[in-house]
Amino acid sequence: AVLQSTREAATARGIDGQRAPVWQRNFGIAAHIDSGKTTLTERVLFYAGRIRKIHEVRGKDGVGATMDSMELERERGITIASAATYCSWRNGVQLNLIDTPGHVDFTIEVERALRVLDGAVLVVCGASGVQSQSLTVDRQMKRHRVPRLTFINKLDRMGADPWRALRQLNERLRMPAAFINLPIGLERDLEGVVDVIRQCAVYFDGEHGERVRVEESLPPALRATAEQARRQLIERLANVDEPFGDCFLQREYDVPEAALRAALRRATIARRFSPVLCGSALKNIGVQPVLDAVVDYLPSPLEVESYGMESRGERRLLLQPDAAAPLVSLAFKLEEGRFGQLTYLRVYQGTLRRGDNVFNARTGKKVKVPRLMRMHADEMQDVEEARAGDICAMFGLECASGDTFTDETGKVRGISLESLHVPEPVM
Ligand code: GDP
Repeated sequence: AVLQSTREAATARGIDGQRAPVWQRNFGIAAHIDSGKTTLTERVLFYAGRIRKIHEVRGKDGVGATMDSMELERERGITIASAATYCSWRNGVQLNLIDTPGHVDFTIEVERALRVLDGAVLVVCGASGVQSQSLTVDRQMKRHRVPRLTFINKLDRMGADPWRALRQLNERLRMPAAFINLPIGLERDLEGVVDVIRQCAVYFDGEHGERVRVEESLPPALRATAEQARRQLIERLANVDEPFGDCFLQREYDVPEAALRAALRRATIARRFSPVLCGSALKNIGVQPVLDAVVDYLPSPLEVESYGMESRGERRLLLQPDAAAPLVSLAFKLEEGRFGQLTYLRVYQGTLRRGDNVFNARTGKKVKVPRLMRMHADEMQDVEEARAGDICAMFGLECASGDTFTDETGKVRGISLESLHVPEPVM
């Protein structure tokens, strides 16, 4: 598995041998409790190739048959509870799926998790609609300027209504949103999605919906609805993205696909728009399009602005997501792992190398970088370095969550990513 990862990493390196952060996404999945966040997370890790089985089959042949619910939870826990899990999609796009705590309160821990995300998928239940907690999650994302996609889940359930959910999103979340795909069938008849941009039908075959089959012709009953959704998407985007608005004035609904996609990406990253996807995580319908949308419409670490604060004074420093710049990184989570305490870090600028000396801005002490790891869903891998944009974990480092590690010399020494340092007990 490690060999395969290395090869994947190699394909993700640019021609100059530098890994291009443009091929990375650091994202999280956020939701109202019970909307299907855990199920979606598990499916994402399944399709992104890092776990080999799906645990829903309770009591049937397979996993569930030999596992009671405690064991099941434990096994699920191991595969998905990591603070950040590394996986990949579409030939080497590196995804770091970051765990967003389920709490609704504004604790420093939640804020920190949101801080290291560059984008998020907000899951809402297609039967219950937008609930209070979705509003809280939305406000938190707003504070941290996290761009987001929305996934309307559970469309296989009785009473599921994606149109009502979309209306609620537009009314309550105050960010224009429109479908980029639509369900084919609802409730028990849910069988796939219509790609609104390309106007084609996408079905998910195989036991876990792992094979994606695209049909150019739409089910006749959906043709008018799909065209209407395409027009709505174009109109709403034209309202929030000026270049696309100009294009719409000239071409009306005959806009080029590339212009539409580019506008969708710009508007989503600028937090002026949220693309909405449909499906059912439990029935394995519509999950791969979510991963595609993470890659297509959420920003890479190169496309987000992050700031550090100089230790004395109020001055903010714009960080450069450049591997060659002096190091600035944040320890965002401490975790008691199977082999001792793990510290999760995000590198914002520069490169963190095993064996290097780095400076802890809070303690004012110099420390040596011990073992560096990358956490997969069911294994970990030693790495030599982590570059700007990367998420990694360290073993055997004494620090508190929220600590900033910087280059030990020069201009960034003592730069802090958090004004508040609340030492956190190890969970
Ligand atoms: P979380 O609390 O948001 O993490 O939600 P879970 O993923 O644990 O899901 C809550 C419940 O909803 C579980 O019983 C799931 O099996 C169920 N569930 C999740 N996704 C779907 C779906 O797409 N359709 C249906 N019918 N049930 C789902």
